[in-house]
Amino acid sequence: MSFDVNIVRKDFPILSQKMQDGKPLVYLDNSATAQKPQCVIDAIAGFYLNYNSNIHRSSHTLSRLATEAYEDARKTAAEFLNADEAVFTPVFTRGATESLNLIAQSLGRTVLQEGDEILLTQMEHHANIVPWQMIAAERNAKIIPVKITEDGALDLEDFEKRLNEKTKIVSFTHASNVLGTVNDAAGLCRLIRKHSGAKISIDAAQSAPHRLPDLAKIDCDFLSLSGHKCYGPTGIGVLLGRTALLNAMPPYQGGGDMIDSVSWQRTTFRAAPERFEAGTPDIAGAIGLAAAFKYMASLDWDGVKAHEEALLERLEARLGEISGLKIYGRVKGKLPIAAFSCEGAHPHDIATLLNASGIAVRTGHHCAEPLHATLGVPSTCRASFAFYNTFEELDFFADKLGKALEVVR
Ligand code: PMP
Repeated sequence: MSFDVNIVRKDFPILSQKMQDGKPLVYLDNSATAQKPQCVIDAIAGFYLNYNSNIHRSSHTLSRLATEAYEDARKTAAEFLNADEAVFTPVFTRGATESLNLIAQSLGRTVLQEGDEILLTQMEHHANIVPWQMIAAERNAKIIPVKITEDGALDLEDFEKRLNEKTKIVSFTHASNVLGTVNDAAGLCRLIRKHSGAKISIDAAQSAPHRLPDLAKIDCDFLSLSGHKCYGPTGIGVLLGRTALLNAMPPYQGGGDMIDSVSWQRTTFRAAPERFEAGTPDIAGAIGLAAAFKYMASLDWDGVKAHEEALLERLEARLGEISGLKIYGRVKGKLPIAAFSCEGAHPHDIATLLNASGIAVRTGHHCAEPLHATLGVPSTCRASFAFYNTFEELDFFADKLGKALEVVR
């Protein structure tokens, strides 16, 4: 099936919603969360309507159906990531944030000694900074942020220079939620393997909705993503990890379902993934996420890529016409997003005026305060596009942005 934005839009009921004064919704906050296709909504409703039950614990029919659907969702996650199931295990988490906290706490306790180094980059989201700061403080380890260049690319020279025998963990984002820069994940993994024995974690929260992840090509140890950015539900995510490593790591949380046996003297733990899924998981979320992954896999990705590239080109051209507007992140092949500032206008005022026209954009530091400090701007306005956005929406946004600036400047 070839890609047609007007057909794809029909899969997302919320997109035909009218906002205040009957204005159409122009949703340009996809980097924060994406909208959900009907099939995802149906999969979640289907679970609650037809076979809601707890999993793994009972022999009754509903529990068997729920368990099968939950474990099928895990298989779907591995397929979506093109991960070899003999090597990798998908663990369900609450999202990229929980996945990264799990790795930091559990892997951090396994590999970090005093004086060891954790390599991050200047373009990380707080979710890939703060968990590492917490474990670094506990283990007396050091965090090293790799520099970015003027146009928002990762400084590869600095990256390579920072790798050494003290580097025990490298955790980098596949794509920046502010700059839109897409890092060469496969190439960075090769560099890391060449210069250090570090374990590699990739934050794919922003890249996965735009580029189908391919674990056959990326030699990492862990990859984290959030379901809600991949057109799935909130409250569910995936941590894909090398099974052997996961089994060598201590559990992150304790509780039901993750144990082999419990006594007052000694508790033993199950292997991954169960050892990291304490308590009742988000069963409906996993089922909804599997529907989202299947939906994504059904799209014509050459068509999606071409459409998103064309959106980015037009976005940069239209914003380039506005005087005093600066886009942060100008790297070729970036995601279809623009974080920008405008001379003489506060981002919050711009967003408020755009909202009055039914346009949803985001302002602030986008949970990337250190990156904004590097860029020398406290906050930006961000318009982030998905494959279901149209050129008409883009032009409407650019026109209204121009008008908003006439009001506030
Ligand atoms: N990493 C990146 C690059 C992100 O953009 C986000 C979400 N904005 C996260 C991690 C965290 O994702 P979540 O809030 O869904 O856990």
